[in-house]
Amino acid sequence: MQRIEFGKTGIKTARFGLGCMRFPGEQKKVDEIIRHALDHGISYLDTAYIYDGNEIKVGKALKGGYRDKAVLATKSPVWDIRSHGDFEKYLDEELKRLGTDRVDIYLMHSLNPDNFKKIVENDCFSFLDRMVEKGKILHRGFSFHGTNALFKEIVDCHDWDMAQIQLNILDEFEQAGLDGLKYAYKRGLATVIMEPLRGGHLINDYPGEIDALIGGYPEKRSLVEWAFRWLYNIREADVILSGVSTMAQLKQNIAIFDEAEYGCMTSGEMELIHGIKTAYESRHAVGCTGCRYCMPCPFGVEIPEVFRYYNKVAMLDKHWLDKSTYRNLVMNEGKGADKCTECGLCVPKCPQGIMIPERLKDAQAVLTSK
Ligand code: SF4
Ligand code: SF4
Repeated sequence: MQRIEFGKTGIKTARFGLGCMRFPGEQKKVDEIIRHALDHGISYLDTAYIYDGNEIKVGKALKGGYRDKAVLATKSPVWDIRSHGDFEKYLDEELKRLGTDRVDIYLMHSLNPDNFKKIVENDCFSFLDRMVEKGKILHRGFSFHGTNALFKEIVDCHDWDMAQIQLNILDEFEQAGLDGLKYAYKRGLATVIMEPLRGGHLINDYPGEIDALIGGYPEKRSLVEWAFRWLYNIREADVILSGVSTMAQLKQNIAIFDEAEYGCMTSGEMELIHGIKTAYESRHAVGCTGCRYCMPCPFGVEIPEVFRYYNKVAMLDKHWLDKSTYRNLVMNEGKGADKCTECGLCVPKCPQGIMIPERLKDAQAVLTSK
């Protein structure tokens, strides 16, 4: 598998990084996934304080000599920071959960206008520098969900070692975008790509036109392969995360990344990707990745589930089936968009900037129509 120099950190790692957010519940399965990855040349592991119980699972899987094989990245719960001292308090808790004395890359999580203001007001910068001196963290980074302009402002405001952004074939011009990626790379930051498949939504419930496009192309690859190929083709994309839930997915990803190479795509392949993007965008309803950062809703609305049905109905032609399943399984259990009181509590938590109450209304109208 292609290995790269990770910015100015001195780290060498494979281009495929293991996203730990969507691991299975059973520790045994997590151990198998992480250890198989580390035994097959993958070293970058991405977790976060907010991923429920995840740091503890990762820590357990890294026992028995695996910690030293890993480049371990985790993230500060920025939105919970109330004072400067909170940064170290959370980091110490994370180190304890992970069962280690150091984090290789420590990220300020999900920087958007509010979270960026918070880290500036509470001076995360001197905290990060001090933790590097103490050896509790080795490198400083941030993950990002905001505009391209804000991304550049953040890149330039501190001596960061890495930046993590959302990028996939649908998001070339969204958030930091490809332009932001190139900006960070040019300034010497290591780069990490998250949501390469938009939380799996890009490859599930997609319109039938895409199958026709892929099937008609001379070189036979699955949609997953095309989505990753578009990313590993990009010189500035150092590590590409994939959040696996099963061993089968991990093995599939390893096989895909065995072909990873910069600049491998032909102009014909780029045209195919453009066609896939156009087909997808002509039907897509809402850009929810299913991350669940907006949950729980105090009024019981299963926000990502409502949006999943909304997108399914928009993408596929079996409208009646998905609409009746939504009514029977989601609304009947009191988890439908009809329970939204428009309190707005979920809106600032959404990294995709979705105006959730408004889009829930749209979803409810479509999902309950004839
Ligand atoms: S706006 Fe609606 S979905 Fe969001 S938290 Fe309030 S009630 Fe729940
Ligand atoms: S609405 Fe936003 S926060 Fe909630 S699951 Fe979707 S993308 Fe994540």
